[in-house]
Amino acid sequence: MIRTFGAVVASLLITGTAAGQGIQQTVGNFEDRFRQLDEVLPTPNVYRNASGAPGHQYWQQEADYDIDVVLDEEARRLTATQTVTYYNNSPDTLNFLWLQLDQNIFRSDSIANVAQDFGGAGRRGPAVSAGGLDDPTRLSMGELRRQQAMADNEYGYQINSVTDTRGNALPYTIVGTLMRIDLPRALRPDQSTAFEIDFAFNIVEEDAVSARSGYEHFPDDEREGGNDIFLIAQWFPRMVAYSDFEGWHNKEFLGRGEFTLEFGDYDVAITVPNDHIVSATGELQNPNQVLTPVQRERLREARTAERPVFVVTPEEALANESSNPTGNVTWRFSAENVRDFAWASSRKFAWDAQGHPQPGAEHDVVMAMSFYPKEGGELWELYSTASVIHTMDVYSRMSFDYPYPTAQSVNGPVGGMEYPMITFNGPRTTLQDDGTRTWTRAEKEFLIGVVIHEIGHIYFPMVVNSDERQWTWMDEGLNSFLDSVAGYEWDPSMEWNRSLPRDLTSYMTSSNQVPIMTQSDSILNLGANSYGKPSAALHILRDTILGRELFDFAFREYARRWQFRRPTPSDFFRTMEEASGVDLDWFWRGWFYTTDHVDISLDMVYQLRIDTENPDIDFARREQENADKPTPIGVQLNQEEGLELWVDRFPDVRDFYDDNSIYTVTNRERNQYNSWLEGLEDWERTAFERAVEEDKNYYVLEFSNVGGLVMPIILGLEFADGTEERMYIPAEIWRRNVHNVRKLLVFDRDQELVQVTVDPQWETADADITNNSFPRQIMPSRIEAYSPSRGFNFERRDIMHDITTELDTDDEEEGGETEAEAATAE
Ligand SMILES: [Zn+2]
Repeated sequence: MIRTFGAVVASLLITGTAAGQGIQQTVGNFEDRFRQLDEVLPTPNVYRNASGAPGHQYWQQEADYDIDVVLDEEARRLTATQTVTYYNNSPDTLNFLWLQLDQNIFRSDSIANVAQDFGGAGRRGPAVSAGGLDDPTRLSMGELRRQQAMADNEYGYQINSVTDTRGNALPYTIVGTLMRIDLPRALRPDQSTAFEIDFAFNIVEEDAVSARSGYEHFPDDEREGGNDIFLIAQWFPRMVAYSDFEGWHNKEFLGRGEFTLEFGDYDVAITVPNDHIVSATGELQNPNQVLTPVQRERLREARTAERPVFVVTPEEALANESSNPTGNVTWRFSAENVRDFAWASSRKFAWDAQGHPQPGAEHDVVMAMSFYPKEGGELWELYSTASVIHTMDVYSRMSFDYPYPTAQSVNGPVGGMEYPMITFNGPRTTLQDDGTRTWTRAEKEFLIGVVIHEIGHIYFPMVVNSDERQWTWMDEGLNSFLDSVAGYEWDPSMEWNRSLPRDLTSYMTSSNQVPIMTQSDSILNLGANSYGKPSAALHILRDTILGRELFDFAFREYARRWQFRRPTPSDFFRTMEEASGVDLDWFWRGWFYTTDHVDISLDMVYQLRIDTENPDIDFARREQENADKPTPIGVQLNQEEGLELWVDRFPDVRDFYDDNSIYTVTNRERNQYNSWLEGLEDWERTAFERAVEEDKNYYVLEFSNVGGLVMPIILGLEFADGTEERMYIPAEIWRRNVHNVRKLLVFDRDQELVQVTVDPQWETADADITNNSFPRQIMPSRIEAYSPSRGFNFERRDIMHDITTELDTDDEEEGGETEAEAATAE
């Protein structure tokens, strides 16, 4: 693909910040980290303007879907018919259409499979070898299972027919995970076309293949053949996005880079066994046909409830686990203005719901709902729907009202994945021998965290529709920032709140880094690069550089401008500047286009005093300074040895200089001083005399930029009288010298500095705090004398279960058996 934007970015990285497009900017070693991003960002036009807003001729395509799908539970296979109506809102004439066939990634001949690097960093899912490149000779059990699943099953789409709405076959060509449909007549601007696709595919086993959807099998359930949970996504051929800046966004689905999609309206009829519960994007259209009167009544009750209400109780779900369907039933859902559609189905689901009021919003009540099997248990009952509601509270405040009627969290085999109005979340409880279900603190925090994160994605990118295939940071980075804002408002002690600036220092100083502005499939260290670092950057912008008032205004402006539209990175960068009123090009350049890190060193602090020029004052001060110098070691040793000085041995030999020091003032100096004073201009004398009278403390601080990123300098100042002050020096101090700067600080006569600390609250991701203090500090470090076991993790202990452990005593030396007996006895 030719990408003008990408090409310019690459040339920037190669030629360095000062060179721009190869134009020699300066002579010497001057570097301009404040050079505007104009030559990097795309030229503004009528579709996206220079302020980062949609232009006056902004357009985007629309694709509406009408789908009938049947789940064959036994065969684990979907069969479907879909009608797509495609609206060409672009000014271009289209001779063909492109669709995404994401299921084809599971074909054994897909680019994703064939181009898989052994032990490669690019795959989502089980690592091939625990040792990575250092240990290329080992296969993990997970990889063996994956190989076997791929060998035993035929995956990928079976396309049965592609026709126009009158049933005439349309020619099509499949290219990996893409399909081109050739139109019999060109589709002109403002025209629409409709076509039908009949397709089927075998559902992958998520645990074996590691995908963003699939089934999970529960062989131990009390039912012949066990049960499954089906999480269904990337399941129907979806239109490839067509945009003003790229045309068709054709890029093979390799598994890592997510999705680039169009908005549209959906009507989906899902036929499943009649003892299943279905959760899906959108709103259920036929509750009378699929829900019992009791369930419908509970759902009504939940709308105004203060706490979640069960529509299907855990007891009912447990009873359903051993039931057998007597036929099929069709659940009908419809969804407006969504960019995708996903669903889940199982007879194992309990279902709780609670209405979330949004007074004045388009949807004044949003139904927050959770679907989970007994394996989710009380953990889900307590925290899933509560987390869904907390997400809407915080995200709506930071962006816009939640724009859909439902927000759902479904437990299944996928660790965490987002779709419009529905999310898949993995954390569960552990069944103990005594039949109880417990969870670790880490599992609790993971559940709350993952639900907030995935529901948060319904705002970014499900509504603010960025191109995930190209830029992971635009949804994951913004969303990680917001989920940690929400997380800190839930409980700041939660361990998963790990995207603050201070958490990123080791990544930002690591080797093998790529800039945030890197295409999704090529990123190294995805979590730190695309989630953590942009999140840290936004926390710094919000809490340190712009302040909350300016940041929140600008961020909301971005969210609202691009709600239900397709923003690019430049739209974000430009909007944040336009709306905050602060030039941030240096910030985007440093944080998003380079791999520099933050490390500002405070190298020296000089204290200066004004000389009065009056010899009667200044000479005495000099004399005192001279007397304060340490005694030379030889003189001191002479004294200790009792050596007698010559002047003491012959005290009768004296002259003028034995009674007058070199600091003695004569009238010659006094006359000089008086005539100097008279020679001053009036304003000079006024300023000088005032300065002498005030006798302030002047300090010059010397800083060096070790990490490379230009950043504001935040100073913690401690004075001799115990008082403290905070000072903020904007990043612009580095504008003429990015390596070394000096700053003059002036304090009153009685304000004597004793300690200066750069970034005392660790808010700028400064990687090396040992050079932050002047005078330097002794760094405390713990010597670990005792470590219970390697990799011990307080958060991961299942204390809920371990608390019942009995203490081993000497006469119970048999160990295992004794403990097991004790456990079953309880
Ligand atoms: Zn995410």
